[in-house]
Amino acid sequence: MSANDRWKISSTDNQSKLKASLDKNKQLIKRAESDDTIELERKESYIEPSTRILLRKLLESSEDEEIIPVYQPGRGFIYRLSHIEGKDDSTVIAKNFLDNLVRLDILEKTFYESVSECPHCESTTITIHNKCPKCKSHDVDKTSLTEHIPCGNIDQKNMYLENHCPKCGELLLEGQYRNMGRWFVCRECGERFENLELELICRNCMKNFSLKESTLAEFPKYSLNKLRKKEIRQNVASLEDVSKIFTELGFNIEIPGLAVGQKSGMEHHFSLIARKRVNQQDITIALDHAISESEIQSQPLILYIYKTSEVSVDLPVFVAIPKLSETAKKIAHGHNILLIEGFIGELKIYEEIKNQIKKRIDDLAPQNDKHNKTVNSKFKGINRLKGFMKER
Ligand SMILES: [Zn+2]
Ligand SMILES: [Zn+2]
Ligand SMILES: [Zn+2]
Repeated sequence: MSANDRWKISSTDNQSKLKASLDKNKQLIKRAESDDTIELERKESYIEPSTRILLRKLLESSEDEEIIPVYQPGRGFIYRLSHIEGKDDSTVIAKNFLDNLVRLDILEKTFYESVSECPHCESTTITIHNKCPKCKSHDVDKTSLTEHIPCGNIDQKNMYLENHCPKCGELLLEGQYRNMGRWFVCRECGERFENLELELICRNCMKNFSLKESTLAEFPKYSLNKLRKKEIRQNVASLEDVSKIFTELGFNIEIPGLAVGQKSGMEHHFSLIARKRVNQQDITIALDHAISESEIQSQPLILYIYKTSEVSVDLPVFVAIPKLSETAKKIAHGHNILLIEGFIGELKIYEEIKNQIKKRIDDLAPQNDKHNKTVNSKFKGINRLKGFMKER
């Protein structure tokens, strides 16, 4: 090998190494981006009503509750929580809904069952038919063949009437006949065969196909992702508790709450929007909640402040679990945001926060006509808000 050749090789080698490393970097960036997107999607799904309901039920049930596929004749495999009372369609959980929660890392799935499906319509309602390998007729009888050893006659067992050989007429005696095992006889063409051909017919689309042509479908079982259990509990429970407070105070709740920004025309999502009419005035509360392993930084709070600046909210509430950072706390204070930190599940804290909210609402709403003038100016933004709020 000449020096030149060696250089060529090492140069191509280096280039491919460089390319591999660049590709790897690209992949890493891509993965990081998709991790971010998934994290965002996961946070959104925690406030999505059907996800919240399912997660709450999973959290309320036993430690290792699983969602297991159950076969329903004529319908196939369906999913529902095992301890659920109602067995109507409303309790059935769609498989693609569960698969999406697996994608978001909220649920995990493990193998449970794998079945043959119709390759045309994915139905599992299938009947199995025996088929004659010669004439393809389904008119096949399953029987056993008996050999009469002295005369060599081989026939189906039921042809030996009263144990007499149909060929030589002798009585079958112990040791003079033998059972040749299971056989199949075609009633159409008389063919005898040892191995069946199977034909499947889909009872949904009525098409027929062989076992080989059928597709395999997996029906896993689903459970909460144990590594995220704390996060799931915090997300679901905190919103539940807050919404309970507002319900007790007579508010109508929307989770998630949607509002269209007055300037941007953008649709803003809040974790919760609560509305109530007090003394002829509509009061709107918009709430976001943020959850973190340690403390919440300013970013989610600033986004929240931006959103509230667009939709004029009467009482801004921000829930931070476990707490806000010191800087973020100052920002919240500066914007007169009612800040709720930590869990409010405990009755004493719960009542305390309820009273705080009640006091802030009382400050907002006019008590009598005397105050109406000042209050009206305070409520200037509210009429503008009406109509911008999306009806749900
Ligand atoms: Zn089918
Ligand atoms: Zn046949
Ligand atoms: Zn015989």
